[in-house]
Amino acid sequence: MKSKKITFSLAERLLNLIAPRSCVMCGSRLTISENTLCADCNMHLPRTNYHLSPTDNELVRIFWGRFPITSGTSFLLHVPSSASARIIYELKYGNKPQIGLSLGKAIAEEYLPTGFFNGITALFPVPLSRRRLMQRGYNQSLEIARGINTATNLPIIDGAIKRRRFRSSQTSKSRIERNENVANDFKLIDQQKINGQHLLIIDDIVTTGATIVALATELLKAPNVEISVFTIGVANSLVA
Ligand SMILES: [Zn+2]
Repeated sequence: MKSKKITFSLAERLLNLIAPRSCVMCGSRLTISENTLCADCNMHLPRTNYHLSPTDNELVRIFWGRFPITSGTSFLLHVPSSASARIIYELKYGNKPQIGLSLGKAIAEEYLPTGFFNGITALFPVPLSRRRLMQRGYNQSLEIARGINTATNLPIIDGAIKRRRFRSSQTSKSRIERNENVANDFKLIDQQKINGQHLLIIDDIVTTGATIVALATELLKAPNVEISVFTIGVANSLVA
């Protein structure tokens, strides 16, 4: 019998020597067994653990009365300017799509044994407008979905919805203004792709919920669609 100890290939060890990776939260150098986050930062993440009560928690309550949500979770409580907020910032604005991929995979591996993905039939990353996609070079929600896919094998549905408009930062607008602002952004263009599916909407962060409400409302125009939600972060001001 071979030893079950985790081993690293020569290529992996060489790569670690010539291209040392650093922790996205604290910047310290990662060991070969660490990915994206060092062990210390990983241990101190403000995890919500909403996935342990997926049908009734602070995240799903944000959507009650706005659209019928089956289950949902956010991995982290997002506190602006905190150490962990850097993960989301780097994922969105740091040109680091690999953060989405590795976080998505790590979280999915953590959630799988709890049954969080039971009943979900496909992953649905929040689409970006064409212009925003060209500007950023990648869709961070799609990268998260790719990571979840590698751990769960759940298919990713892309292209059923078109995101129409592009606008600059919404941070200075009120919640009502933002709701109105995104309400007509999404357009269902291929309902065959989502017909009969239980979709897990994937997003980076929930700041008001308006984007997810707008997307879910459009997805629910297709027959027999069920919606659950997964995000990396949820603004602490929303769930406090
Ligand atoms: Zn760290």
